Amino acid sequence: MHKALYFIGLASIALSCTTQKYYYTYDAKSKNKNNPSPNTVIEKPKPSITHQGEVEFFTQNIANPAKNDNTISYGSLVSAKPKGYKVTKNFFPAMGQNFRQRYLILHYTALDETKSVAVLSQQAVSAHYLVNDLDNNEIFQLVDENKRAYHAGVSRWRNDYNLNDASIGIEIVNMGFKTDASGKKVFVGYSDAQIKKVAALVKDIADRYMIAPTNILGHSDIAPTRKQDPGPLFPWKKLYDEYQIGMWYDDATMKNFLTQINPEEFNTQVNTSPFIFKVQTALQQFGYDIVPSGTWDKNNTKVVEAFQYHFRPSLYDGKIDMETWAILQALNQKYSK
Ligand SMILES: [Zn+2]
Repeated sequence: MHKALYFIGLASIALSCTTQKYYYTYDAKSKNKNNPSPNTVIEKPKPSITHQGEVEFFTQNIANPAKNDNTISYGSLVSAKPKGYKVTKNFFPAMGQNFRQRYLILHYTALDETKSVAVLSQQAVSAHYLVNDLDNNEIFQLVDENKRAYHAGVSRWRNDYNLNDASIGIEIVNMGFKTDASGKKVFVGYSDAQIKKVAALVKDIADRYMIAPTNILGHSDIAPTRKQDPGPLFPWKKLYDEYQIGMWYDDATMKNFLTQINPEEFNTQVNTSPFIFKVQTALQQFGYDIVPSGTWDKNNTKVVEAFQYHFRPSLYDGKIDMETWAILQALNQKYSK
């Protein structure tokens, strides 16, 4: 899908930009950036810049989706206007660039729409987009995609910290959860209309920035000890099945792992230090912020709970059972690097 789009895009640019050459003098043979051979000139297609009044726009994206390492995006350009000097784009854009937007983080607001708008637009927290719970075609943008919104807080996924720096945040109007008499969190569901809106928005953003499926996450995935959103009723599987958004395990692989587990053996092993260490390592390998120690602490339980919200939403008790363990292994087999 990506590849096909890229080639179609490239072909149309090559046709429309034949008069525009993009010269790049990196010496590919010597691989020496500091001493490029003057004879090494590589021509690349250059996207055209259009003007609307004072504002300049790229109108095409000729990035290589296989790499995401020399990304030339479309959208409005922001340039300096130093007094008395002229900034030109004779050698623009440089090849060495990529997107800052590498993650997409989903949240619920735990507030109704009116309060969500007020808090996210007038206070210290924010998100790039807010998806209301009405069956209409409106989505609110609150922050420019090129700027940081304050939605993730202290957070980590794999080796990336402070994900506000590298993410687009989407807040979804939803009342979150209430705790019942037994202490269980009871969550509020999402309407189909709202999920359709979220899916269309996520797809648009993920396609433009080439955000990897492994980087489309819930707030609880990146801040498991503090957050529960978007909660176990957020339909990650439906988004994966129907819109090719985010991660999901292959059922056959999961079942295969499950049949390899001997229930009796599992029950005797589950609370032993080597097994706990193994599970903690698998969670860490997948991306969660957890340090393998061989013993479960309160925060570890919350990591398991966050994992279950996302990948085993029928039971989210924070305990490693056979199914949770099989799902985690299937996901690691499919996605971990
Ligand atoms: Zn959140």
